[in-house]
Formats: sequence, structure tokens, C-alpha cells
Amino acid sequence: MRKILVVGAGQSGLQLALGLQAHGYEVTLMSNRTADEIRYGRVMSTQCMFHTALQHERDLGLNFWESQAPRMAGIGVSVSGPGAERLVDWVGRLDGYAQSVDQRVKMAGWLDTFAQRGGQLVIHGAAVSDLDYFARVYDLVLVAAGKGELVSMFARDAARSPFTRPQRSLAAAYVHGLGPRPEHPDTEVARCNLVPGVGELLVTSTLTTSGRADLLFWEGVPGGPVDVFQGVTDPAEHLALTLDLMERFVPWEHARTSRVELTDAGGVLVGRYTPVVRQPVAHLPGGGLAFGVADVVVTNDPLTGQGANTASKCAAAYLRAILDHGDAEFDEAWMRRTFERFWAQTAGPATKWTNVMLGEPPEHVLTLIGAAGALPRVADRFANGFDDPADFENYFFEAEKTEAYLSEVAGG
Ligand SMILES: Cc1cc2nc3c(=O)[nH]c(=O)nc-3n(C[C@H](O)[C@H](O)[C@H](O)COP(=O)(O)OP(=O)(O)OC[C@H]3O[C@@H](n4cnc5c(N)ncnc54)[C@H](O)[C@@H]3O)c2cc1C
Repeated sequence: MRKILVVGAGQSGLQLALGLQAHGYEVTLMSNRTADEIRYGRVMSTQCMFHTALQHERDLGLNFWESQAPRMAGIGVSVSGPGAERLVDWVGRLDGYAQSVDQRVKMAGWLDTFAQRGGQLVIHGAAVSDLDYFARVYDLVLVAAGKGELVSMFARDAARSPFTRPQRSLAAAYVHGLGPRPEHPDTEVARCNLVPGVGELLVTSTLTTSGRADLLFWEGVPGGPVDVFQGVTDPAEHLALTLDLMERFVPWEHARTSRVELTDAGGVLVGRYTPVVRQPVAHLPGGGLAFGVADVVVTNDPLTGQGANTASKCAAAYLRAILDHGDAEFDEAWMRRTFERFWAQTAGPATKWTNVMLGEPPEHVLTLIGAAGALPRVADRFANGFDDPADFENYFFEAEKTEAYLSEVAGG
């Protein structure tokens, strides 16, 4: 039986470990936190996931919370004007609904499941020296440790990494008591409120440790008026700041916050990080290899909600590649081939789209977003791009393609 070590119990590591376990592999999972430490700890993400990524979880029978988590039927886009008025406001329908399950709930639950199914769980923050040893004992070492320190083993790929500093400051709050948007009281959608030059407020729903909740997630342009959360350690102060900024820049969202309260003291998150793509293979001092997974190799800003989706797709792609490889050696050529396929199909398109959305939107993108209000087909296609960013290549990045697409839809 082939022996595989997975380091990191997040979206990709757990999905891979559980998938390999189900196929009879001898899997060891190394996590720097116990299930309870994750469950009762601080939130880590807003983790909105779309159809394809959710389907990978269903395929493995891991969609334990699907019936309880709220369903988001579409993507709402609003653009704020200089006087905080709404210049653009529309909803695009998703072909399959989106869902978010608090990673505290999901990762703790999956970790317990892995152990209950007989998996070997080691609670230990892995260091390079550990991996050096384990690479001799295991057929394959997968590093799925997110943005943790182990990423330094994987060299930055400068050609695929345009940024050298964070592009947004991040501040998320989990709340109970958010009212519906009055224009769509019966339909839940993920709301993207764009405030040009300032940042974005993303409002999504989730299933957290205390049931249904909503997420108020500010992405602030560095140095701008929303970049004010660093150093705020009091969760109540964090929420007050979130609401003040909503009142100032997106009053239509603020109007439904009169009854909100934080879900729990761990329900806030502040941070920032530099988007980066890394080489997929690390050479360990003793000559062994480690293969990078998901955020370890491709870290995007969460503005477009791609990270957990990409992590699920990465786990599914790597699982398929491992199964297809049978008893052959997991050498560097196989690792690079496996990563390049994942990059071409999934991570590359997600990265390209996210990086464009982080910058000043070009004129044709503004035209497209404006036009979608009157053209539901355009709004729907844009919404479904969150599930399959590769489609943006067909109509979004180049002005000529956008113009051709808009005239086709308007003509039809
Ligand atoms: C504020 C915010 C909002 C986000 N919103 C979304 C969203 O709406 N949609 C979306 O798709 N993505 C979103 N993301 C991104 C998404 O959460 C991540 O991309 C995704 O969780 C990455 O999965 P992963 O498996 O690569 O790593 P993680 O899920 O980060 O898991 C890595 C795990 O490894 C563990 N670890 C680290 N170092 C070690 C070590 N040395 N030894 C053992 N274990 C270790 C960590 O504790 C962690 O449990 C968001 C991120 C942030 C910060």
C-alpha cells in the first residue's frame, strides 16, 4: 500500500487526505492544531465556494453541512459613486448555488472524520527537518500548509507573480442579525460592493459554529480610508469600525445592519498578504522532494473568492493524478506535470482574473459591469465566472472581445 504524508489540515490537505484514504492509501496527516483548537479558535476565511468546488466535496461524500448552510443563488454587484450613491446595482444568477461553511466547522469536522476512519493524525507543526526525514519514509510528501512558514521552501515564481506587496487590507466580521436586502428579500446572493479607489465590501452568508450567520468583509486599498483595522484587537471595536465604513461608503448595505452582533469573540479577522505563485517542488536538504498544494503554490487575494475554490479543485486534480500514477515513482517530472495541468485549467485563470480585479478597472470592464444591469445574460455570465474563471478569457480581458460580446447580446 502506498504511503502518503499530507502536511496541513485545511481545505486542500483534508480533502486530499480523506480522498486518498477512501481509495485505500495509507495516509498520515500532520496538523499544527487539534480539531478542538480549530473549532474554538478564530475564523480564518469567508470561504464562499461555488458549484464545481462544492461538487468535488460531494463526490467524496464530504458535504456534511450542505443541507444546513445557506444557499447563495447569485452574485450581486453594486458600484458606489462619489456621493455614496449606487451607480450600478444588479444580480447575476448562478447555474449552481454557492455556499460557505465556516472553516472552523468544516476543518474540525473533517479532521475528526479522518481520525474516525482510521487515518493517522499527528498533531505537530512540521518543520523542514521533519519533512526531510519523512521524505525517506513516505512515497509522497504533500505540503498543504496554506500561507504558513513552510512556503519558504518553495521558490517564488517571479514570472507569474506581478506583486511584491499586499494589494488589499482584509477585515472580516461574522455577524448574526443582518437583515435582507429589501429589493430581493427572498433571494440570498453574494454581494460585491465596489467603492472605486477605496476598496470593496463583500457580504455573504455562512454556516458558523452557532448556526447561520453573515459575513461583512472589507477589502481596503492599502493606505486608503478602509485600511484602518491593523492594531484593532477588540472585536466590538472591529465591528463598530466595519459598520461606520459601511454607513460612509455603502449606505444601502448599512441600512440592514441595525440588529447585527458578532457571532463570537473569535468571529473577526484582520490581515493582508502578497499574492504569489511559487514553484511546485521543494528540494529537501537530504535529497527528498516535497510537492506543494493549493495556497502553498498559488496564493491569490480573496477579493474574487477563489482561494478555497482553487484549493478544492487542486485537491481533486492532485487526487486524480495520484490515482492515475498507480505504482510509479512520484518524481519531480510527475509533480511539475501535475501542477502545470492544474495551473492551466484552474489556478492560472483564477489568478489572471483576480489580479485584473485588484487593479484599476479598464474602461471596457466598467462598460461591461454597467451594461450587465440592463442585460441579464451578461450579469449571469459574469456571476458564473466565479465558478469558472477560465470563461473570462472569452469576453472580459480584451476590449475588442468585450465589445463584440456586448453587441451580440444587445442585438439578440
Ligand atoms: C479573509 C479571507 C477571506 C477569504 N474568503 C474566501 C472566499 O470567500 N472564497 C474562497 O474560495 N477563498 C477565500 N479565502 C481563501 C481561502 O480561505 C484559502 O485560499 C484556502 O483556505 C486555502 O486552502 P489551503 O488548503 O491551501 O490552506 P488552509 O486552508 O490555509 O490550510 C492550511 C492548514 O495548514 C496548517 N499549517 C500551517 N503550517 C503548518 C505546519 N508547519 N505543520 C502543520 N500544519 C500547518 C494551518 O494551520 C491550516 O490548518 C479567503 C481568505 C481570507 C484570508
